[in-house]
Amino acid sequence: MEQLITILKLKKKYPLGDTVIEALKGIDLKIYKGDFTAIVGASGSGKSTLLNLIGTIDDPDDGEVYFKDINIFKLNENEKAKFRNEKIGFIFQSFNLIPVLNVLENVKIPLLLNKKLSEQQRTDKAIESLEEVGLKDFVYSTPNKLSGGQRQRVAIARALVNNPEFIIADEPTANLDSKTTMNVIDLMLKLNKEKGVTFLFSTHDEKLMDRVSKIIHIKDGLIL
Ligand code: ADP
Ligand code: MG
Repeated sequence: MEQLITILKLKKKYPLGDTVIEALKGIDLKIYKGDFTAIVGASGSGKSTLLNLIGTIDDPDDGEVYFKDINIFKLNENEKAKFRNEKIGFIFQSFNLIPVLNVLENVKIPLLLNKKLSEQQRTDKAIESLEEVGLKDFVYSTPNKLSGGQRQRVAIARALVNNPEFIIADEPTANLDSKTTMNVIDLMLKLNKEKGVTFLFSTHDEKLMDRVSKIIHIKDGLIL
């Protein structure tokens, strides 16, 4: 199997008053193309820190992350922004939709940086992505008109709109009821199986853990 992400001795500290919190104490991990992997651990164990570092949302104190053969922390800020935007989709626990924008406009956001696309091409891509998640009839609704599950589907459509190979999802079902959780998992699995999108997500959710190809347990900033 093709190796997609290689993490080597990754460390991250946060200053806290007079002390320092070691959020990640040296993580080594490999993610292969087509994986559907869950990171499982108690609150505070370092899941979000790890996902944010892989997504270049934050910088480590030590260690390396390779995406294929790109050493991502060697990229400058512009290159990182481009990498983040083109190669990775993000899904968050709280959906992170912009309330004053409608569904279509929210999904178009990752396309705005791509100056090669016309406005019509952006719209077409966003609608295609919304079709994929079953929300074509809601393009002009604002997020407050949608249920939690529908909002997370919009976020998934937004994550998909650049056709990324890799999606990072930080507790994607934490704010959803159990039925909606199943729907969202089914959708992510469909994208994994049919489009070959590699997923790495964090969860506490037993329902999700049953369905994944690999589980990684993390505790106090270390993989068990
Ligand atoms: P999880 O996502 O597993 O709940 P986090 O990665 O959010 O864990 O947090 C790991 C540790 O780092 C926790 O002790 C948390 O309090 C601390 N932490 C996370 N982000 C920050 C921050 N921005 N500043 C200070 N401490 C942080
Ligand atoms: Mg977290």
